[in-house]
Amino acid sequence: MHDLVIRNALLLDGLGGAPFRGDLGISGGRILEIGKAKENYRETVDAGGLALMPGIIDNHTHYDAQLTWDPLASPSPALGVTTAIIGNCGFTIAPCRPADRELIMRNLTQVEGMALEVLRAGTRWGFETVPEFFDMLERQGVALNVAGFVGHSSVRTYVMGEDAPRRAATAAEVAKMKEIVLGGVRAGAIGFATSTSGNHNGYGGIPMPSRLADEAELRALTGCLAEAGRGVFMLTKGSHTSIPFLEEIAAASGRPVIVAALLHNNVSPRAAFDELEAIGAANARGRRMLGAVSCCPLTMDFTLHSPYVFEGLKAWKPALSLKGEAYRDLLKKKAFREEVRKEITDPSAGVRLFNGEWDKVYVEQTTIADLARDAGKDPLDAMLDLALSQGLDTEFSALLLNSDEEAVGRMLRDPNALVSLSDAGAHLTLFNDAGFGLHLLGHWVRKLGILSLEEAVRRLTSHPAAIFGIPGRGKLERGSFADLLLFDPARVDRGPKQRVQDLPGGGARLVTPPVGVHGVWVNGVKVADDKGMRKIDRMPGKVLREFDS
Ligand SMILES: [Zn+2]
Repeated sequence: MHDLVIRNALLLDGLGGAPFRGDLGISGGRILEIGKAKENYRETVDAGGLALMPGIIDNHTHYDAQLTWDPLASPSPALGVTTAIIGNCGFTIAPCRPADRELIMRNLTQVEGMALEVLRAGTRWGFETVPEFFDMLERQGVALNVAGFVGHSSVRTYVMGEDAPRRAATAAEVAKMKEIVLGGVRAGAIGFATSTSGNHNGYGGIPMPSRLADEAELRALTGCLAEAGRGVFMLTKGSHTSIPFLEEIAAASGRPVIVAALLHNNVSPRAAFDELEAIGAANARGRRMLGAVSCCPLTMDFTLHSPYVFEGLKAWKPALSLKGEAYRDLLKKKAFREEVRKEITDPSAGVRLFNGEWDKVYVEQTTIADLARDAGKDPLDAMLDLALSQGLDTEFSALLLNSDEEAVGRMLRDPNALVSLSDAGAHLTLFNDAGFGLHLLGHWVRKLGILSLEEAVRRLTSHPAAIFGIPGRGKLERGSFADLLLFDPARVDRGPKQRVQDLPGGGARLVTPPVGVHGVWVNGVKVADDKGMRKIDRMPGKVLREFDS
């Protein structure tokens, strides 16, 4: 007797093949047969015509810290995700010496949108090196499959300590970093990740360490992937990192390069397309490069206590290290406001999170643009004055990027694009796009018809699996692992965002509930049903450490 058969499903193979009616049989965590089931099974599920696809591979998450206290990686599995890649942008928690734990957590607070108290209360530190971190996750168990990058910022901190966010590395330091990256990739990391983005700051506005790396350091560390003959290089690109430079890295290493984050910007509407085109041209010359795009509009909920939308601005820098009275005083200063205003409207400033679209910044039901007009004020003044009058507690919600559906639709269809950027596990108080896959299926397939169902499924499954060299996943084939998502194509979606306070120590975050999900299986074990996560007595996920070269 075999384990489970799902009968009468609309099967989507993940490879882009046309959907077809049939059964899928599972034995020992793998797909035994597909089409007309002939074997005998202990358990039968009648799908009643619902769609069955490979589980979603979320290639851009930040669950590194959360997984140490929450092996379920909530809320991703309930949203159809069966494999999560962690350590994106190079923000990992390994390697880390015991003495640097506070430093690493401080760095994460800003970029992960988690309070330092949450990280202190939650993070379990049973490791020092990258291989030890993977070993620990394996011992502890994970609900979904997890693969992790070696993270540049942590490697830098390990080698350079307090100097990591302050200066370029010496040749000796780069040599030490290379050893760690190579060791990590050989011990099962999926690649090497970094960030050169000006939006990525640690505690008190100190840049994330990787931002201090020069080109020689980046060439040296990505060279480890060539040496190991495996692994993907991912980076979140600042405006000073050029596609030609990344193409040089792709050529020298021979490895895939993932360029994040290509988000559509109404103020420079060509920018993301220019980058996709440049990536396409590089691919025509034999490289393997992809632009990481998002199928979600980038919105952020925030207060002026921690305004991530402004924190990447040069003009905001003086505010980053200030607290209390001193911070509020600065917000009142005319000269400070003038500089911020100048920067958010400067057409030559490159990629910014916020581009002065005040009609897309909401406070309750009205926009800052309307508020400013009614008060006869400049919008930035109107916003800061309002926040200051309410002790900075005013809650704003900003639609920042990726709001033009025609443009985003074209990006999603681009052959050089990788559907990505959920940032699940990070920015927890600002937004939650862990349900990006359900959004792709509901919004872009059913409501807008921008992608066919089978193509959208391919983009969420076999496409990332092929790029990252994840064997046996992302497709429904005999012998593949039984990572599955059963859903109703007529209803599938992510629900409205909700604020919950379930982080260690009572910290808050945003979540979105699944809609139209009927079952999620990881390695043949059902982890979620139409009511969300199920109680599971053993963690069915695997820490993925073997990849195709
Ligand atoms: Zn990220």
